[in-house]
Amino acid sequence: MVDFMTLLRGLILVPALLLCAQPASDTPLRGYSASSSRSQRVWEAKFAAIPDPKKIGEYMQRLSARPHHIGSPYDKDNAEWILATLAGWGLDAKIETFDVLFPTPTERVLEMTAPRRFKAKLQEPAVPGDSTSGQHSEQLPTYNAYSIDGDVTAPLVYVNQGVPEDYEQLERRGISVKGAIVIARYGGSWRGIKPKVAGEHGAVGCIIYSDPHEDGYAQGEVFPAGPWRPRDGVQRGSVMDMPVYPGDPLTPGIGATRDARRLEISKAPTITKIPVLPISYADAKPLLAALEGPVAPAAWRGSLPITYRIGPGPARVHLKVKFDWKLHTLYNVIATIPGAGSPDEWILRGNHHDAWVNGADDPVSGAAAELEEMRALAALLKQGWRPRRTIVYAFWDGEEQGLLGSTEWAEQHAEELSQKAAVYINSDSNGRGYLKMAGSHTLEKFINGVARDVQDPEKNLPVWKRLQLERIANSTDRAEARQRADLRIEALGSGSDYTVFLDHLAVASLNLGYAGEAGGGIYHSIYDDFYWYRHFSDSGFVYGRALAQTAGIAVLRLADADMLPYDFTNFTDTVRRYVGELQKLAAGQREQIIERNRQIDEGVFSAIDDSRNPAVPPAREPVPPFLNFAPLENGVAALQREADRFEKALEHASANGGEALAGPALRDVNRRLLAVERALMSEHGLPNRPWYRHQIYAPGFYTGYGVKTIPAVRESVEQKLWKQADEQITLVGRILENTGERIQGAASALEKVRAPE
Ligand SMILES: [Zn+2]
Repeated sequence: MVDFMTLLRGLILVPALLLCAQPASDTPLRGYSASSSRSQRVWEAKFAAIPDPKKIGEYMQRLSARPHHIGSPYDKDNAEWILATLAGWGLDAKIETFDVLFPTPTERVLEMTAPRRFKAKLQEPAVPGDSTSGQHSEQLPTYNAYSIDGDVTAPLVYVNQGVPEDYEQLERRGISVKGAIVIARYGGSWRGIKPKVAGEHGAVGCIIYSDPHEDGYAQGEVFPAGPWRPRDGVQRGSVMDMPVYPGDPLTPGIGATRDARRLEISKAPTITKIPVLPISYADAKPLLAALEGPVAPAAWRGSLPITYRIGPGPARVHLKVKFDWKLHTLYNVIATIPGAGSPDEWILRGNHHDAWVNGADDPVSGAAAELEEMRALAALLKQGWRPRRTIVYAFWDGEEQGLLGSTEWAEQHAEELSQKAAVYINSDSNGRGYLKMAGSHTLEKFINGVARDVQDPEKNLPVWKRLQLERIANSTDRAEARQRADLRIEALGSGSDYTVFLDHLAVASLNLGYAGEAGGGIYHSIYDDFYWYRHFSDSGFVYGRALAQTAGIAVLRLADADMLPYDFTNFTDTVRRYVGELQKLAAGQREQIIERNRQIDEGVFSAIDDSRNPAVPPAREPVPPFLNFAPLENGVAALQREADRFEKALEHASANGGEALAGPALRDVNRRLLAVERALMSEHGLPNRPWYRHQIYAPGFYTGYGVKTIPAVRESVEQKLWKQADEQITLVGRILENTGERIQGAASALEKVRAPE
């Protein structure tokens, strides 16, 4: 029986279904003539049928069989195995090595000396039934890479997540961390931000722990009964100051070849200023329980069965860490499929192969899918397919320590990449769930098109449709999720190997992966292994196949297109939104300061202060000047004008089957298109961090992985540097106008394109 509501829902769905009824294969792919689009779809269908979940599982078991961090025997073994596997499929691959600074611990001590004694275990025990969890002799100990050596004893202070706002709260309570050791929980920022901000506030040491609130028993059953973090599980990780520059700390901006000029270790700016150590919640609990002082604000409390207090003390802690500061060799595996028509236009694709320990999820779930993608491409080559453009596949090493393999490789090949790289497509961990698409908005339309052509392995729906319905269910802008032609993609901050391509070289980039239905708390621990993955994530490796299909179709479609399928209207729409956000942010800052000054004058703070729990009143702040956003608005107007002109030219060239797109004049259009993203780069980089040159995307200086869009302006406003904000608005406005000029150049080249006689 059908109830009334179901009928009603059915009626509402009808128009939506009609809109989608047109078969996708009837519309030519963007950048393709009708005939080349038809043959492309045939190749793509052949490709998509090849990836086999069983093989992805086999690669995962092999690659995650032993710990394989940079510098370990199995890391090199894996690189050689990947190389031999690719060669066996007839692909042309090689290993490119670099020599990078990678400290490993020789001493780790954490103990409480008062009010009672407690020695932290700093060990993750093996789990019965999980065979690789017992490979102790090859496992890296639990630690944070690029912590400075140190031996400090000091009172302890709890600083919540250790981000700048947490220190503002501490200041309001009159609590200083000067001379103290801080304990921060994971979350709220990238981990490297925590020791950086603690050091800026005068702390002498930093402990980071995993609170069960984030990824332990508060979320679900812990490993091995469930996927979440067990009491002794520790999140290893890099704490280098990556928002300054990623890669080898000793060779900023250049490849870390054997004879490269290196900084002295003591002069490397991305090594922390204070010692840092990550710990489990079993080790953190006695330390936190021994704190007195004010009760932590509600938002600061985790899920341990204690009253969270801030301190300082009476807990006193001794932290000692010492490292072997050695260079290690990393092994990138690079495979090339030469382009038959435009060999000097490159489509790049990569995933890292190194892990903190066994890393079945991070990164092997992505690397195994990438490998299967390559087996499918090798099979197409045997059937006679030849890509128009050159395709470069990479398996990066040393990602976990700070994107070492990808950064050094791209710095070494920077000149060639600047000339030839059209797109870089990255993946990393992959699991059950929804397609996550992030990256350059010049590729938003393109990747939406790919997502429409990949089926979700568990639902009878394209992954695009499933994602749209999820946004209708959960996003704040339902109307947009229903009506906008393309689903918005996220902007990229940092956190994986796309960083050097997008942020340093301004190569249009995408990061792809499935996620959202395989929660877990094994990140960067010994429990991220084949046993965990098979029990709790994509156990049948079908989302691995979906990733191989998604990224593989993207590579094929980019490599074979007559015209590179960038789109500038979605890009302009996105930049306009960012400019709007900045205007709101600046106005909000101003209003907030005016209001607070007024409350200070009215005596609000002294009247509401609780004398038993006193707070320090805020200081008066100068009212900021109005900022002139006209240069950014003019830049957006220029982008809009040229984006429209380009679309018109493309429409014209695509008329009558689009045979004009197959003509030789397209070469000039492609050359110009490839250079558009590069125009978004400033040679001077961002204020105080010249390595980061893209003017639309960057990881936040105080968020780490989290993106800041139009970062030069946004961070100036956030940091209340009004004069700098004004200067950066002018500079970025000019960058947008220059980008508009490049789009105009591509449009006028496209206008001249005629069908071959
Ligand atoms: Zn990873």
